[in-house]
Amino acid sequence: MIIGSHVSMSGKKMFLGSVETSIENGANALMIYTGAPQNTRRKAIEDLRIPEGRALLTEHDFKDVVVHAPYIVNLGNTFKPESFKFAVEFLKEEVKRADALGASQLVLHPGAHVGAGPDAAIASITEGLNQIITPEQNVKIALETMAGKGTEVATNFEQIQQIITGVEHNEKLSVCFDTCHTNDAGYDVKNHFDDVMDEFDQIIGLQKIGVIHLNDSKNEMGSHKDRHENLGFGTIGFEALHYIANFDKFQNVPKILETPWVKDPDAKKHSPYQLELAMLKSGKFYDTLIEKIINN
Ligand code: FE
Ligand code: FE
Ligand code: ZN
Repeated sequence: MIIGSHVSMSGKKMFLGSVETSIENGANALMIYTGAPQNTRRKAIEDLRIPEGRALLTEHDFKDVVVHAPYIVNLGNTFKPESFKFAVEFLKEEVKRADALGASQLVLHPGAHVGAGPDAAIASITEGLNQIITPEQNVKIALETMAGKGTEVATNFEQIQQIITGVEHNEKLSVCFDTCHTNDAGYDVKNHFDDVMDEFDQIIGLQKIGVIHLNDSKNEMGSHKDRHENLGFGTIGFEALHYIANFDKFQNVPKILETPWVKDPDAKKHSPYQLELAMLKSGKFYDTLIEKIINN
């Protein structure tokens, strides 16, 4: 199983620290933002401590590195040309950073239409991707399935396929399948995952899935909310998430947890990832997970 979580890349250790944390958690894959997810200030590639991080990855037989683009860039904004232009320029640099990190996938929230309607946004996103993607890049841009919060697009497989079809070098595109987002968008990943995969296969093709974001959801199917929950504590449940993690066709696809950190009674936050990864590997749900995380 290729599995890991979102880990931070910050402080003096940067990428080396992300790798160390992931190894401590028992992961063999990881996902990072190249800086804060909510802003676009980024350090120079030389300051990310990539060679040391890569050396440690190799030593531990790590399987995959995934980068997530900041979620404030919006290729779908057709009202503000400067916002679109900024997103294109930023993402060109993000592709370079992802390649320098040796990442296989660069996860992107495709965009939001901010009132212009999905078709206008999809045309804009397609145009942006055509400006960003070069045949020389190694990393694939993984279009994430979105929950449909606000005016997000890519909330169904048809819209994602519309983007893929419009991109010239679409061999450089993949899909990031987020279990919380698809649940919230109205797909029954809990009870009918095989059917959801059949539908995905017919519309896009299963081989396009490059990353799985494995998250439980705080909300009901179709709620369009996008609030992640710890595995087994949400509406999807541990059994379904364990099934997805072990889905035969995803053996070589990295599974990345983006579940929330757990607050103790003193409001101190604790990482859930070591225990959640252990649950997935053992197949056993710890109903005392929250207590265990707090007392760890
Ligand atoms: Fe995301
Ligand atoms: Fe996600
Ligand atoms: Zn989300």
